[in-house]
Amino acid sequence: MTLESCVATEKKPLLTVAEAKKRIHATISPLTEQERVSLKDAFQRVLAKAVFTPLNLPSTRNSAMDGYALSSEMFAETLTNVGTSWAGKPFERDLKSGECVRIFTGAVLPENADSVVMQENVTVHGSKIEFPTDIKLKKNVREIGEDVRIGDLLCEASKTLSASDLGLLASTGIENVLVIRKLKIVYFSTGDELVGLGESLERGKIYDSNRYSLFGLLQNQNYDVVDGGVIPDDKAALKNTLIQAAKEFDAVITTGGASVGEADYVKAVLEECGEIHFWKIAMKPGKPLAFGKIGKSYFFGLPGNPAAVTTTFDIIVKAALVQLAGGIIKEPFQLTAICATKLKKSRGRQEFQRGILQQLETGGFQVKSTGNQGSHILSTTSIANCYIVLPADCTEVRIGESVTVMLQAI
Ligand code: AMP
Ligand code: MG
Repeated sequence: MTLESCVATEKKPLLTVAEAKKRIHATISPLTEQERVSLKDAFQRVLAKAVFTPLNLPSTRNSAMDGYALSSEMFAETLTNVGTSWAGKPFERDLKSGECVRIFTGAVLPENADSVVMQENVTVHGSKIEFPTDIKLKKNVREIGEDVRIGDLLCEASKTLSASDLGLLASTGIENVLVIRKLKIVYFSTGDELVGLGESLERGKIYDSNRYSLFGLLQNQNYDVVDGGVIPDDKAALKNTLIQAAKEFDAVITTGGASVGEADYVKAVLEECGEIHFWKIAMKPGKPLAFGKIGKSYFFGLPGNPAAVTTTFDIIVKAALVQLAGGIIKEPFQLTAICATKLKKSRGRQEFQRGILQQLETGGFQVKSTGNQGSHILSTTSIANCYIVLPADCTEVRIGESVTVMLQAI
């Protein structure tokens, strides 16, 4: 651990978020197994191999407009319309002197035509077409290969395929692609206080909300996700469950039990059955985080508090899973906004406060706090659309000061 990676305000130095992320990314070996899927099933999947085009796009010279096709070398102010080139039904001969053809968008040009004049710019007298003298020629023609040429890269390896990627691949006739197989993930809650929805809420019990947050956070075309249920606060049960889960899944996620209270067994269990780093991270919410491996499986032990779960997932786990699934990590966009709420924090930990970002009429950005930032408060998470990122040594932000804002979606 380097000096600057620690924030030495507590007894034991805490690890910075940046250092924790660096260590996680250095540990992960992305999946490499591949499967071939049809184009529609490839939407938002991670491409396993680069794809090159087997076709020129466009593959024929065609018109960008509805109008009249002609040869600039044989241009005259009046030409005779000798036929039509339709999209999909070309006019199949060369133009002779004095000729032009009616043409529609996407229709192939006659071999010796090099110009299309928009229909709005001509005067039609039966088959005689009159062109303005000052008309610009050699326009409105889509040339062969001006989009991509045979052998050009269409999509790079590891790319997550977007809607326009599917369109691009389809336009070159590609029917299926190799993608990285799906990442198998299981998640558990831990805690004797938890009851499931539909069960009666006895005094002291709470509904298990983390499994619902995680269900949403883990929606991704590259993940096969299983809800593993609740593990009681029992060391043997936790150990057996995690050992079993690690045999079946590429990644195991738990929430709760990660502090060092009497009933927090995650650390002890992992020391016994895995290769585990247990960190206290200099972030708020979300100080305790366990990361490591149990057998071949990666383990993420998140805090129990609901707002700490969503924050540690967004800030740390999300990118780690993208990397594990073979994808390219894109750090969330950060921008500067004027803070419209007075913010307080204690020195020592980087804070990710839930905020509401809005764009002003002037085009600038303004952000305000969603309210109570307690790590057990979900209502202020629900209305947030960003994180206000406050550095470790900051203690307050006054109204009107600039702050860094992180957009949530990666
Ligand atoms: P722990 O880390 O287990 O001590 O949990 C910290 C706090 O988070 C406690 O108030 C727990 O009751 C709460 N908590 C833990 N797991 C969940 C869960 N699945 N859903 C809602 N709250 C939870
Ligand atoms: Mg607990």
